[in-house]
Amino acid sequence: MDLLEYQGKQLFRKHGVPVPDGKPAKTVEEATAAAEELGYPCVIKAQVLIGGRGKAGGIKLAQNGDEAGAHAEAILGMDIKGFTVHEVYVEAASEIDEEYYAAFVFDRSAKKPMAMFSKMGGMDVEEVVETDPEAMRKVHVDPLLGFHDFHARRLAFEAGIPGDVIRPVGALLARLYDMFVAEDALLVEVNPLLVTKDRDVVALDAKVTIDASALYRHPDSQEFRSEVGVDPQERMARERGLTYVALDGNIGILGNGAGLVMSTLDVVAQAGGEPANFLDAGGGSKAEAITQAVEVILSNDNVTAVLFNIFGGITRCDEVARGLIEAFEKIKPTVPFVVRLDGTNDKEARTLLAEADLPNVHTEKTMLDAAKKVVELSNGRPDGGHDHQDAGPDAPRG
Ligand code: GDP
Ligand code: MN
Repeated sequence: MDLLEYQGKQLFRKHGVPVPDGKPAKTVEEATAAAEELGYPCVIKAQVLIGGRGKAGGIKLAQNGDEAGAHAEAILGMDIKGFTVHEVYVEAASEIDEEYYAAFVFDRSAKKPMAMFSKMGGMDVEEVVETDPEAMRKVHVDPLLGFHDFHARRLAFEAGIPGDVIRPVGALLARLYDMFVAEDALLVEVNPLLVTKDRDVVALDAKVTIDASALYRHPDSQEFRSEVGVDPQERMARERGLTYVALDGNIGILGNGAGLVMSTLDVVAQAGGEPANFLDAGGGSKAEAITQAVEVILSNDNVTAVLFNIFGGITRCDEVARGLIEAFEKIKPTVPFVVRLDGTNDKEARTLLAEADLPNVHTEKTMLDAAKKVVELSNGRPDGGHDHQDAGPDAPRG
């Protein structure tokens, strides 16, 4: 889960990473009041989950109340690379002497956290690193030993920062690492890591990603879970404890078990269809879970057909069939469903479905047949009406 800058900075503060004073605001009035409280000059910063706000005009310096109001007015509602700004962060302005870059990430191949540091931070760090990869210094941290002075010194010397800031930068990195571990972060990035005119070292920006699976032990971070900008279907699914990822296509997918759902997506793509989502109803899916899952899938208006792919292991197919029947009674779907049930109690399941005689439900024996069928139905055409019904997957398309 990605945090907004001000949320990340809240965690920084908690772990002793120095940051300027600041207050979040959702309206122009709130922003002006925050600016008055913080004093001038202050900076009005767009709060969106994307970098490059500075270049997009989402960060503005205000010298007085009028300017603070005008900037907040301009930034709230602004679109930054497809993200609408719903909140700003009003922060006491800093006087910049130098801008560094610091981060902790997981290096999965090394199975260790990795510290990254550069003297060339700021808005162009990506380009700098592209032309001069050596400008980004890296060091792995043994998770059992933790981050130590020698790590910080090595980064500082390799990066070539001035002697007077080596200690404060090292101290900041140590706290950042503590936070990285304590908060179950997957990424903590500070760009720029600022050296002020007074030679203080502070974190001017915060990009923090928390492991969503660890949220249960971080009440602070749970509060940050911003519903703004979250796909409504994904939110609905999360509230119901379902694993759901929204995709761009029009074929709703429901399966049990992540592996099965993944292969279902592949088979649908192979059959020429485009999945609308990834939905894993989980192992041991009960009737109630199925109803909930069907509701989530159908809440997406783009869905023109649904593929229901269940392999019964622990999950009993008859239980799933009952769920589907209940879902149909409750929701009365208008789009066609293709159902493939295989495994534990599949015969009972098919009998139940046959007896229920649900409108617009087609059963298929294999996954591939089910995929072909759902692709056909999703195009809103009767059997055999497909343009390229006889064309193989490699045949030219029109
Ligand atoms: P990003 O562009 O989304 O990464 O946003 P940042 O928070 O990193 O800010 C981008 C740039 O805005 C920084 O690199 C600074 O140059 C500038 N900036 C941000 N805050 C201040 C400030 O308090 N004072 C001054 N002078 N510049 C600032
Ligand atoms: Mn930044």
